[in-house]
Order: sequence, then structure tokens, then C-alpha cells
Amino acid sequence: MSKEKIPYKIYLSENEMPTAWYNLRADMKNKPAPLLNPATLKPMEAADLAPVFCDELIAQELDDTTPFFAIPEEVLTYYKMFRPSPLIRAYFLEKQLDTPAKIYYKFEGNNTSGSHKLNSALAQAYYAKKQGLKGVTTETGAGQWGTALSMACAYFDLDCKVYMVKVSYEQKPFRREVMRTYGASVTPSPSMETEVGRKILEAHPGTNGSLGCAISEAVEKATETPGYRYVLGSVLNQVLLHQSVIGLETKTALDKYGVKPDIIIGCAGGGSNLGGLIAPFMGEKLRGEADYRFIAVEPASCPSLTRGRFAYDYCDTGMVCPLAKMYTLGSGFMPASNHAGGLRYHGMNTVLSQLYADGVMEAVSVKQTSVFEAAEQFARAEGILPAPESSHAIRAAIDEALKCKETGEEKTILFGLTGTGYFDMVAYEKFHDGNMSDYVPTDEEIAGNLAGLPKVD
Ligand SMILES: *Cc1c(COP(=O)(O)O)cnc(C)c1O
Repeated sequence: MSKEKIPYKIYLSENEMPTAWYNLRADMKNKPAPLLNPATLKPMEAADLAPVFCDELIAQELDDTTPFFAIPEEVLTYYKMFRPSPLIRAYFLEKQLDTPAKIYYKFEGNNTSGSHKLNSALAQAYYAKKQGLKGVTTETGAGQWGTALSMACAYFDLDCKVYMVKVSYEQKPFRREVMRTYGASVTPSPSMETEVGRKILEAHPGTNGSLGCAISEAVEKATETPGYRYVLGSVLNQVLLHQSVIGLETKTALDKYGVKPDIIIGCAGGGSNLGGLIAPFMGEKLRGEADYRFIAVEPASCPSLTRGRFAYDYCDTGMVCPLAKMYTLGSGFMPASNHAGGLRYHGMNTVLSQLYADGVMEAVSVKQTSVFEAAEQFARAEGILPAPESSHAIRAAIDEALKCKETGEEKTILFGLTGTGYFDMVAYEKFHDGNMSDYVPTDEEIAGNLAGLPKVD
């Protein structure tokens, strides 16, 4: 189809929205390794997970074979308030880069939480409510997940308790207030409220906190409070399942115009947006129906795929969560305190880890100053103020488009623009004032952390 026929924004109508989530695991020959019980090192059964997670979410978590899960009507109804999200052709960016490449991005920042996380928050809050629970606990780093969950809990009338990584709690007071506006209570982590928080504070007084540590606190609180369960905004397979709505919509929109991407790019923290965006495309690749290049983009300061080890590790710093076989930097890994771009989780979702180990997905790491350069270039061309996390994908998309400029290839590049950056102005300010530096961990630092991995078989 000619270039002129593709609109700037490809919107779907409500009745073109997917009515079921797609479970990529059903099409994987090499299934992701099972979660292990940290006490027995045996595969986790539903009963082991029941004190921590909601029952239906456990069923989704453990299901490697069912290809589709119907999206509950209540969730679909709320989805319609902010979905389908637009798929945008980056004509302005293409022009500025003077590239023959065609660039598309799926924009998930069109809701108050400002990111894709609301897609899974709604599903998780719905199942918690359906189970008759009083509330949920969670952790949040930069605050997008906590905000999304607060919105979902307000909608489904659930109590919401958020442990927010301390450095973010202090640097992003507005995020905190948004969450409280939706009725959540927000505690800086590590806190004195939990056993694990007190232990971590004793061992590392003055710590900035980490996601792994906030997870431990939220899990402890959930298991000790009757009527509560813990919910997680990334990393788990159930979250990738919910986020498949991103990829399904994207595929429907591209198919409408007969567009087939050559390269699909997503930023990778715990892996949920990337896993959701690529799901239907990767399914085609695994079934031998089509071929695509997939690129995961991670920060050079927290490079789990590109420099971590594929091994069983704890999902949290406090070592109370199950072990997952994933690319990891070690559960004690904390990115340097000057790291401003999010995506600071030490591990990676097990599905994406397996796909990367199998060689069907690539990964690159990028330095934060180059990420903010890309963010600024994108903002000036396309108008949207991107989240630093999303800007990792922008960086890689621009780099691929510039390669096309050199070779003259007209590749089609698709990337996930996961959210907006309005609450990240402290980081942008650092970049503008020239106070942002790039910290890349040394091989010794990484090896030191990996030496502490649990010994499993
Ligand atoms: C949380 C978040 C990410 C990273 O999480 P994934 O689970 O890896 O997708 C990326 N972008 C934004 C805007 C986020 O809020």
C-alpha cells in the first residue's frame, strides 16, 4: 500500500478490540522453567501460591497450554475507557532522521496512570474482587504500577497498599499523591512496618531501597493480613498474558493496512510490555508462519539479559518469593543511584528469558544519556513526552532506522511507546543541566552478585 494511505494514527473501533488474551506459552516448544518453592526447591503448585496470589491469577500463571483466556466483561468495559490505544506512524521522526525506514509505535500512555500497566492492574483487581478479597498489596518503583493499581482498585472498590521504593517516594511526591487521590496508602520502602523491611534497614541503613526489597515487604504484608493478596505489575507470566492486548491490537491494526513489521522493539524491565507487544508476532514465528526480528532494550546500568546469567534466582531481595529461571544479575543487585531511567529490576520474565536463550529474540543495552537524547529527539519530532523507560525502545528504534539510512533498506520498524514522562522531570532536568552520567557496572561487580545465586541442581 502506498505511503499516503496509512494515516498518522491507526485507531481500531471498540468492536475490533480483542476479547481474549493470548498466552504465548501455548505455542512455545521449550516452555519456561517452573517457579520453585524457595523452601523445598520443588516446582510451585497452586496450593503453595494461594496464600500470596489470587486463585484465578495463579491458574493463569501456571497454565502453559491454554492459548486464549477470555477477557472478563467488567475488564473489557473499563478497557474501553482508554483502549484501543493508537498505533501511530512516526512520519515526523522518519523525516527528521531522513531514513527510508517506516516507523510505527503503539502508544500506551493515553490513560491517567500514563502507562501500559493499567492493562494488567484492571485484570488483577477484578480477580481479587471476584474472590471476595478486601484488598491487595504491591510494590512500585517509579510509580506507574502503583498508580495503575490504585485506579483499578478504586474502580473495583478494593483496598490498595503500596510499598514505594524510597528514592522514588522522595523524588516523585506527585506520583505518591496521585495514588492517594485514588485511595491507596503509600509507604516508603524499606519500612519499619515489616520484618523484612526492618532487617534490610538494619543491614543497609540509609539505603535508597529497591524493587526487590519492596516486593518482599508487600508479600509479607499480604500474607500476614487476612483478606489480602499480593499483586505484581511485571515479571510474572500472568502479567504478560494481560499485556498481550497491546500486541493483539497492534497486529489487527497493521493487518488492516497490510503492513508487516521487520523489526519489533520494546524496552524491558521485567518484560511485560515487551512480552505483550511481541506475543502474537512471536506466536507466528514459533509456529513457522512468519519471521520477525525482536529486540529487547535494557539499560546498560541494569543489563539482565545482555550480561546476566540464565539461572534460577529469587524474584525478590528478601528471598521470600519463588525462584524463577531467568536472566538475572542476582537478587541483591541494585542499580547505581544515578540511574534515572527505570527498568531497574534484577531479573527478567521467564518466557522472555527462555525465548532469548533459544535465540529467537535479541537484546541490546543502552546508556542513559543516549536514552534521554533519543527521548528529546522523539518529543521534538512527534510531540509526545516519553517516559524514560519507553525511551530505551525509542533509542533502539532510532538506531535501527539510522542503519537503514546507511544501507538504503526500507525496513518497517515497530516499537512500544509504553508511557509518558510527566513525572520524570527530575531526570529530564539532570539531563538538560548536563548532570547525568552513565554508570555501567564492571564485570567484577556483576560476577560478585552472581556468586550469591542460589544453588539449584
Ligand atoms: C513499568 C514500565 C516499564 C517496564 O516494565 P515492563 O514490565 O518491562 O514492561 C516500561 N515503561 C513504562 C512506562 C513503565 O511504566
